[in-house]
Amino acid sequence: MNSMSVPYASRYPLLEKVAQGQPVLLVNQELRPFHKTTYNQPLNFGDVQEAANRLQRFAPVLAELFPQLRPVRGCIESELIPFDLLESKVEKGRSFGILHKLLKTGGVSADALPQGKFFFKADHQLPVAGSVKARGGIYEVLCFAEELALQNGLLALQDNYLKLLAPKVKAFFAKYTIAVGSTGNLGISIGLVAKALGFQAVVHMSREAKGWKKRLLRQHGVLVIEHESDYSAAVCQGRMQAAKDPLVYFVDDESSVRLFLGYSVAGLRLKAQLETQGIVVDDCHPLFVYLPCGVGGAPGGITFGLKQLYGDAVHCFFAEPTQAPCLTIALFSGLGNKLSIYDLGLTLQTCADGLAVGRASSLVLDLVTHLVAGCFTVTDHQLYSFLAVLADHGLKVEPSGLAGCAGPGWLLCDAGQEYLISQGIKDCMDQATHILWLTGGSLVPEHEFVSFVERAKRP
Ligand SMILES: *Cc1c(COP(=O)(O)O)cnc(C)c1O
Repeated sequence: MNSMSVPYASRYPLLEKVAQGQPVLLVNQELRPFHKTTYNQPLNFGDVQEAANRLQRFAPVLAELFPQLRPVRGCIESELIPFDLLESKVEKGRSFGILHKLLKTGGVSADALPQGKFFFKADHQLPVAGSVKARGGIYEVLCFAEELALQNGLLALQDNYLKLLAPKVKAFFAKYTIAVGSTGNLGISIGLVAKALGFQAVVHMSREAKGWKKRLLRQHGVLVIEHESDYSAAVCQGRMQAAKDPLVYFVDDESSVRLFLGYSVAGLRLKAQLETQGIVVDDCHPLFVYLPCGVGGAPGGITFGLKQLYGDAVHCFFAEPTQAPCLTIALFSGLGNKLSIYDLGLTLQTCADGLAVGRASSLVLDLVTHLVAGCFTVTDHQLYSFLAVLADHGLKVEPSGLAGCAGPGWLLCDAGQEYLISQGIKDCMDQATHILWLTGGSLVPEHEFVSFVERAKRP
C-alpha cells in the first residue's frame, strides 16, 4: 500500500514512517501536566489503593493455592534489579556493560551513554503466570470470585478469606466459567487462577498464540479454543459466546477496568522498591519507564498508577513492534482506535506474540492519552538481539517482554532530546532513573528459549 494515500500521514508525517514499518519515537503531543488530567477522570488514586487492598485480602488464599507464594505471604511481585548487580556478576571488568550492548543492539552509536541509574523490572519472573499479565489477570479473577461469594452469602467482607477454599464454595464456583480472549499470557494468568479457585476456564486464543502456552493451559484443565483470526477477532468471538450464557464471566481485555486497576497496583509496589533502593523521584530527579505494549492495558495501568504517585516527575514510554503499533497510531493519528494497523498496510507479523494486537483498547486510550510521554517501535531483529544480550546475563525473557529495552537509545536521538528540553529536564539527566520493564518469559520451555537464542545469534 502506498502510504502517501493515508490521509492522516500529511497531518503527522512521522506516521508515514510507521506505515513503512520503520522504527520511530513519537513524542505525545497530547501529554498534559498531571494536575490538569485528574479533573473528570473516571478513576483516581483511591481506586488504585482499593485494588491493592483487595489483593491484600486475598493474599492468604493465594499463598494457600500456590506454594511458591508462601515465602512472600501471597504477594505477587517481581524484583527491581539494578544493572550494576548484573554487571558485577557477569562482566568481571570487561569494558562493555549491559547498557552499552543494548544501545549498540538498538542501532544507537553509543558514544554518548544516557546518564542516570538503570534498572530492570523483572516481571518476566512474576510468580504463578510468568508475565506482567499476572498483575491484571489474577486481580480480575479475584474480583469476580469475591463479588460472587459476597452476593451469595458465602463470604462477608470481614471474614477470613481462606473460607473461599472450602469444598462448598469451590463446588459453587464450579458452576461458573471465566472466559477470556488472549494471545497467550493473559490466558495463562486467568486460566491458572480460575481453575485453582474451582471455576471452569475457557481461553480463546488468537492465531499468534504459541503452542506451549496452549499445552500448559490444557494440562491445567483449561478449555483452549483456537481461532484462525487475530487477537481482536478472538476477543470478539469470546465476548459473543460469553454473552449468551449468564454463567460465563468474560474478561474483556479491550475494556476492562478491573484488569486496568490490577496493573495499576504496580505503581505502589515500584515506589516502595525505589525507596528501598534509596532512589529519589521529583522534578529534578526524573523517572523514565519503558513499557512493552499490546492492547495497552498493562502499560496503561502501570502508567496510571505511577502518575498518581509521581505526577510530572515520571515519564512513561510505550514500546511496540514495528508491525503492531496500535497505540502509537491511535495516539498519533488523532483517530483513536478507529484506525487499525491494517489501515496503514502493516501485517501484525512479529516475533513478539504477546504484543501482536492490531487495535488499541478504547478504555485505555481514554484513561492515558494525556499521561503517556510517547511511543516507540522496535523491529524483530532488535528484539532478538536484546534477548541474546539478556540471556548472556542470566535473564530469560521472551521477545514480547523486551521491547522496552530500546527506550534509553531513543532518548538519545533528536526527538528524545527535544522531549527532555520541552520538559525542562535535560540538565537533570545525571540524576535520572530508568526502568526497563521486562514483561514475560520465565515459563518459556527451555528448548523454545534455546531456539530463540540461536535465532538471535544467526546473522
Ligand atoms: C500482554 C503482554 C504485554 C502488554 O500488555 P497489554 O495489556 O496487551 O498492552 C507485554 N508483555 C507481555 C509479555 C505480554 O504478554
